Amino acid sequence: MAMHSYFLHLFLIVALVSVVTTHVSNPVVPSPLRPLLHLQGNLSFDDAPLAAKDFGNIYQLLPAAVLYPASVSDVVSTVQHVFQLGPRSKLTVAARGHGHSLQGQAQTDGGIVVRMEALGGGTRVVHQHHGGQPYADASGGELWINVLVECLKHGLAPKSWTDYLHLTVGGTLSNAGISGQAFRHGPQISNVYQLEIVTGKGEVMNCSEEENSELFHAARGGLGQFGIITRAQIALEPAPEMVRWIRVLYSDFTSFTEDQEMLISAKETFDYIEGFVITNRTGLINNWRSSFNPRDPVRASQFDSDGKILFCLEMTKNFNQHEAESMDQQVEQHLSKLRYLPSTLFQSEVSYLEFLDRVHASEVKLRSKGLWDVPHPWLNLFIPRARIKDFAREVFGKILRDSSRGPILLYPLNRSKWDNRTSAVIPDEEIFYLVALLSSAPSPGSLEEALKQNRKILDFCNKEGIKMKQYLPYYTTQEEWRGHYGDRWEMFAHRKGIYDPLSILAPGQRIFHKGVQSSSSS
Ligand code: FAD
Repeated sequence: MAMHSYFLHLFLIVALVSVVTTHVSNPVVPSPLRPLLHLQGNLSFDDAPLAAKDFGNIYQLLPAAVLYPASVSDVVSTVQHVFQLGPRSKLTVAARGHGHSLQGQAQTDGGIVVRMEALGGGTRVVHQHHGGQPYADASGGELWINVLVECLKHGLAPKSWTDYLHLTVGGTLSNAGISGQAFRHGPQISNVYQLEIVTGKGEVMNCSEEENSELFHAARGGLGQFGIITRAQIALEPAPEMVRWIRVLYSDFTSFTEDQEMLISAKETFDYIEGFVITNRTGLINNWRSSFNPRDPVRASQFDSDGKILFCLEMTKNFNQHEAESMDQQVEQHLSKLRYLPSTLFQSEVSYLEFLDRVHASEVKLRSKGLWDVPHPWLNLFIPRARIKDFAREVFGKILRDSSRGPILLYPLNRSKWDNRTSAVIPDEEIFYLVALLSSAPSPGSLEEALKQNRKILDFCNKEGIKMKQYLPYYTTQEEWRGHYGDRWEMFAHRKGIYDPLSILAPGQRIFHKGVQSSSSS
């Protein structure tokens, strides 16, 4: 008994010393953060500078701390704690996916960054649910590449993608998630059945079409404003084994876009349809088709762009090995309707995984040359179909002439595949184009040049009354955000008032500011 009380005594002293030591040896821990030192996960102060960076590499906001949550309850405790501090505290919480934002959207000045990738929980494939449809139940911090690899083990795959898979589920669902499959399936936000969300009050809510539907609609494309997505149920389909991957060139913009539009509207068509603009005349052939085989090697080698801007239509057809012959016939049939330059048909066959993960191969190359972690002054716009020619004439013909700084994607999307109850903002027309100017600025001075070019493009749209919408939007004033949302602003602000009334979440989007009323009247 005496021995027992001796150990108890010793234990209490050690425990007390360690509590005191935590606080005394960590004098830099601001007192509002101290309660978070007792979470299951890890609260790091050393990693703050890392969380002040993103893919854009232009903006840097230093957080006070970085939380590596061990569970959803760590996320809940953190948000609840910040919520309870009330409106006077300046603390905010920024969920960070893979940090692939462009202008600090996953950052917070002096707040807490939550590293969603640490959350764990992985991906579980559920075969027969939701009216017999399979789905993947994935962590909000999971990378899409991991979701894919897990699903492929079951012969399944998500239906709708982004071009690059080293992005997180919660990060892309907070924007929209678009790629060449969106014309058929809609964006990724049209392909989720249910979300688990920690709201700005620190409540965990499941939401879907049927349950808490307002939150379900708000969070999809909601720029992280309404809650932290901790899990998502993602629609799946049978995964094909292989992909026939085709690129053809056009010198005439009208034929290029008419063919794209015809393909996305046709019943029998390709499985993926995108396109890009080639303004850079040097090394043209070798750059854009490096891993493709020309159908007619002799004529292809003689092909000369004659200094013209070219437009590349990119398509794929999925198939399983035993269906190769019928896939061939279908491809021929679809191609026969197109008006590309005849000698410029290039193709290759790769596994489905290799195709979907294609941008990662470029990442590896760019990293090896030190060209990945450079500033990325990207500009992503949705341009209504009615004005795409005016846009192209000015932007590709004049503003970017000879000075493009990276790939320029251009492909049509169809409004009817988007759910208009979500928070995503797109133009009013049924068909609109994604124009993605994916610039890199590796040398001093080139960042300013690229930003100047972006401003010129935006000014041109404004001056000419082109009713474009920014994708992955970047605005700094609430007035600009109101313009972005148009007549949907009231609803957006109303939902904010319900789910994050103190404006704690995703401050890096710069839409609402803590301490400033977030109601529609603000
Ligand atoms: P982050 O950048 O870390 O976060 C994005 C925003 O969402 C932040 O505001 C953050 O606070 C919030 N957020 C993060 N996680 C959560 C969560 N779990 N719950 C709630 N909010 C959260 N997009 C496309 O649609 N199509 C493409 O083809 C495409 N290709 C890309 C290629 C590259 C190389 C890169 C860098 C980006 C690409 N993107 C594409 C853009 C991408 O969708 C966005 O960058 C997005 O931000 C995803 O990145 P992330 O997962 O790193 O999220």
